[in-house]
Amino acid sequence: MATINENFLKLQAGYLFPEIGRRIRDFKAKNPKADIISMGIGDVTQPLAPAVTEAMHNAVDEMANIDTFRGYDDGGVGCDFLRQAIVDNDFKTRGADIDLDEVFVSDGAKCDTGNMQEIFGLDNVIAVADPVYPVYVDTNVMAGRTGTANDQGKYKGIVYMPCIEENNFIPNLPKEKVDMIYLCYPNNPTGTVITKDQLQVWVDFARENGAIILFDAAYEAFISDPEIPHSIYELDGAKEVAIEFRSFSKTAGFTGIRCAYSVVPKALRATTKAGDSVEVNSIWARRHCTKFNGVSYVTQRGAAAVYSDEGKKQIQQTIDIYMANAALIRKSLAGLGYTIYGGVNAPYIWLKTPNGVSSWDFFDTLISKANVVGTPGAGFGAAGEGYFRLTAFAQPENVKQAMERFAKL
Ligand SMILES: *Cc1c(COP(=O)(O)O)cnc(C)c1O
Repeated sequence: MATINENFLKLQAGYLFPEIGRRIRDFKAKNPKADIISMGIGDVTQPLAPAVTEAMHNAVDEMANIDTFRGYDDGGVGCDFLRQAIVDNDFKTRGADIDLDEVFVSDGAKCDTGNMQEIFGLDNVIAVADPVYPVYVDTNVMAGRTGTANDQGKYKGIVYMPCIEENNFIPNLPKEKVDMIYLCYPNNPTGTVITKDQLQVWVDFARENGAIILFDAAYEAFISDPEIPHSIYELDGAKEVAIEFRSFSKTAGFTGIRCAYSVVPKALRATTKAGDSVEVNSIWARRHCTKFNGVSYVTQRGAAAVYSDEGKKQIQQTIDIYMANAALIRKSLAGLGYTIYGGVNAPYIWLKTPNGVSSWDFFDTLISKANVVGTPGAGFGAAGEGYFRLTAFAQPENVKQAMERFAKL
């Protein structure tokens, strides 16, 4: 009989969103007339920019013509027109010198953040923030880099770095030896950001300790403060220690279209057990092109249009809608006496539950008294207990109504 990869049996049941779904269904069954406003799931609500859909329509027409038809994307790393636009707009403008062949286009930052660990040794020690986007942890569990989970849901062998009020939601440097550090800024779920000086501390730490930083910048487009770095490569020495993940999902409403990219600099090196230094870029290129055959041409044309003058303007208008939602949430909740974080350079608001109520109890109160759904902080990790996430990805009308309902709580 074939055996299973038992690492998968260590995974905790996908608990958070199914449990939220169950509680919503329960509530609806008992209150069929309730008009529920969802500020829970991190998915966009505004349609694609016209510049993007126009580029995609044109690309479909090209595919219908024998002279302009395109087959496989060369090697699956992404078309040059898109990678060039990425390099010029996302990095050159910020003083970061990234080469075309350091950019790997993919169908999602979820897959990229999940797959990247595969090219690194199983004996590496992983460090993650707590609370955290669950993909980083679960994919390392699947690979066998951890033991089993305890009753708090923490896996043996992973270094959890609490991100709480006391450290401004920036983890303290780990005391134990770690090899791969996952950082996500602007952060999901806390909505907080990291300054250049604070991020430089991590880059220096990685350089001194031979560690690699896996930097998830999926929300960089929401940064408005000019002092906050959009890319880790804005920092000195980062190309030698960091991989960066970007996505068009939140930036340009591509959650249903699917396009993202990873940057793996050629200066980044790791070692063999015998101590020989190897280039990470060529290993990732080998992995990516073996298991992936590229993002559809139509999608890549749509993604490239994000960087056109029209595209940039239209995408900014959409981001402004979300960030106006965030500002309204912040203002309303602060006015009601809540302690809140995030929502300035990120589309998430992290609120402290009043009077130390547990995050699931706050969920139940909010849905029953205000018919508003959010996400309990404890669902993102033990250090998220006592917090609650609201997203700005919603229709402005709904946000306004939700805030009026909060006022009556
Ligand atoms: C939404 C999100 C992503 C993007 O995932 P895609 O697969 O590109 O849609 C990546 N990282 C974090 C933390 C996210 O919240």
